[in-house]
Amino acid sequence: MNDEPLRSLKGIGEKTEKLFAKVGVTTLRQLLHYYPREYDQYTSPVSIAAVRPGTKCAVRGMITHSPSVKGNQRKSVILLELTENHVRLQLTWFNMPFLRSTLKKGASYVFRGKVQEKSGRLVMEQPEVFTLGAYEEMISHLQPVYGLTKGLTSKMVGKAVRQLLESRALEQEYLPEEIREENGLCEINFALEQIHFPDNPDMLQKARRRLVFDEFFFFLLAMRRLKAQTEDIPNAFPIQAVWTTEEVIENLPFPLTNAQMRVWNEIENDMKSCSRMARLVQGDVGSGKTVLAFLAMILASENGYQSALMVPTEVLARQHYESLCRLLEENHLEACAARLLTGSTTAKEKRQIYRELADGTCRMVIGTHALIQEKVRYHNLALVITDEQHRFGVRQRTALAEKGEPPNVLVMSATPIPRTLAIILYGDLSISVIDELPAKRLPIKNCVVNTNYRPNAYRFIQRQVEQGRQAYVICPMVEESEGMDAENVLDYTERLRHALPDTICVRYLHGKMKPSEKNEIMEQFARNEIQVLVSTTVVEVGVNVPNATVMMVENAERFGLAQLHQLRGRVGRGEYQSYCIFVQGTSDEATGKRLDILNHSNDGFLIANEDLKLRGSGDLLGTRQSGDMEFAIADIFRDSEELVRASQAAGKLLAEDPELKAPEHTLLREALEDFTALSHHDIGI
Ligand code: ADP
Ligand code: MG
Repeated sequence: MNDEPLRSLKGIGEKTEKLFAKVGVTTLRQLLHYYPREYDQYTSPVSIAAVRPGTKCAVRGMITHSPSVKGNQRKSVILLELTENHVRLQLTWFNMPFLRSTLKKGASYVFRGKVQEKSGRLVMEQPEVFTLGAYEEMISHLQPVYGLTKGLTSKMVGKAVRQLLESRALEQEYLPEEIREENGLCEINFALEQIHFPDNPDMLQKARRRLVFDEFFFFLLAMRRLKAQTEDIPNAFPIQAVWTTEEVIENLPFPLTNAQMRVWNEIENDMKSCSRMARLVQGDVGSGKTVLAFLAMILASENGYQSALMVPTEVLARQHYESLCRLLEENHLEACAARLLTGSTTAKEKRQIYRELADGTCRMVIGTHALIQEKVRYHNLALVITDEQHRFGVRQRTALAEKGEPPNVLVMSATPIPRTLAIILYGDLSISVIDELPAKRLPIKNCVVNTNYRPNAYRFIQRQVEQGRQAYVICPMVEESEGMDAENVLDYTERLRHALPDTICVRYLHGKMKPSEKNEIMEQFARNEIQVLVSTTVVEVGVNVPNATVMMVENAERFGLAQLHQLRGRVGRGEYQSYCIFVQGTSDEATGKRLDILNHSNDGFLIANEDLKLRGSGDLLGTRQSGDMEFAIADIFRDSEELVRASQAAGKLLAEDPELKAPEHTLLREALEDFTALSHHDIGI
């Protein structure tokens, strides 16, 4: 029933359905699990005299005269002025002519919005309007704010969810009673209802805990079943050590660090051993993981085998491909015939590459998900490496493992998680840690500032560009989104173009662009044809432009520290002094204190843990700690206790009923299948 399309809800037609599809919601079940991104706490109205520019607030006001309307039918502005004790507040609405007749003379309303000071006047633009009764109702509950796209509002999503919640029994409880009791978990329908429309923060916490548990639990069940299928497999690709890799290491423009050397030995030993390699290499940003991947590929190739390096974005694929080709050329290893295979490879090129992979001429391939599409057949794929692996799902890994004899698997990750958690999350992998950064790197200089500092920051960026360097500016949002008080890439790019001289090329990059556009922009940035790149966190994943020396992050308070640390890792990769400017969009002290941790440490593990300590466990509405693992609601740092609990529960359950065949586990098995099928639950391991 929950697989029914959205259109089965009242008031949702083709147009709205398309909007929902843009955020990945096409079925009723997906809607149900489209959890709010955050919650809005509506506060009591304040007096107009107490209104402060730059803040969001609600004011109460009586309509003493009809609002005035300017402009024409297509472009109208409604103006209304509220006065209280001689303080005036102007309200303006654009293109909402119907409001004029809605706002009744003599009646009182609550207006809510962000207050700004414009030419000495207090202005509230596009405020929400409530009757007094309706506003009372809003205050009493936390209001959900959803991830949106243009044309879709939180109200629309909320309305659809409410209709769904009211109209039918949603899920049958699938978690066995015993597991729920042992872990103190609330019932599933209660959790779903409260996650969308919490009665109070306590209920929200209960609901969240249940959904977090489920997400970890299903993830771990899926992974352990995968592990059971792939465990203790003999190495079908016997490999001998070769001189070539030693020579390549000798020829590198830098000596490998001790940590890199140690991990390389571990990889080499695994590949030579008689059981299949399954290893995770964990190393902070900039610790030099890529070169180890290349060495492993060269080792495979010298033994006559194929290897594939899979990465989450085309941009990264192309970059790795170019560095690999350079390395092969320098060492006269062009015979490996490395190829790049991504979504934007032309059909003709693809056919050619498929042929070369099938007959074994091509021994190295780098690419995105395109590597595991059905049509790809390998001659003797002996090694699969996933870089920044967390974005690859259980399904993709299974798919690759099914292409011939199970290959050796190497997984690279920069996510700084403690060993105990890594063992749970990557249960089937041995773990290597690169715990040392290459020497001779200048430490990055950081500052945490407020928005007043922007003009200085822009001047600073301009000077860096004049010295030949480049800069990233990160905004949390792609486009303006109702209810979200945060900078967005599109508007910011415009503003920055005005703030910087015309000679500086400012372009933007975000996840909603076509892959080919993203490539183009990223390549231009790598060639320094673009000097300032305004972007969402898509650049977080592994991109390497050593000439970039400034990382400016807007609304830094909206990112987890671990994520900010990853972003910071995009600079300081070359010989130049690099700088990070974290701009705080809010003025509260706690945020400042949190961000200050980044000033004092360059250690990813430590940063994530300090952040958690400062927030405490009650911090529900806060930012996610890490954008890495694509869990819909769970956060590996914040919810580490729940992860441990889910791991114990999964272990116990599978010990009793490995196939989940017992009749009392039927619902659970079905829920697990739904979980693995849901795209946004396609979590990497
Ligand atoms: P990450 O671990 O974040 O993937 P990369 O592999 O992209 O890091 O390496 C970051 C940069 O450091 C690259 O430009 C790479 O060539 C360089 N690098 C790697 N190892 C060393 C080393 N031992 N000494 C100096 N530079 C190195
Ligand atoms: Mg990397």
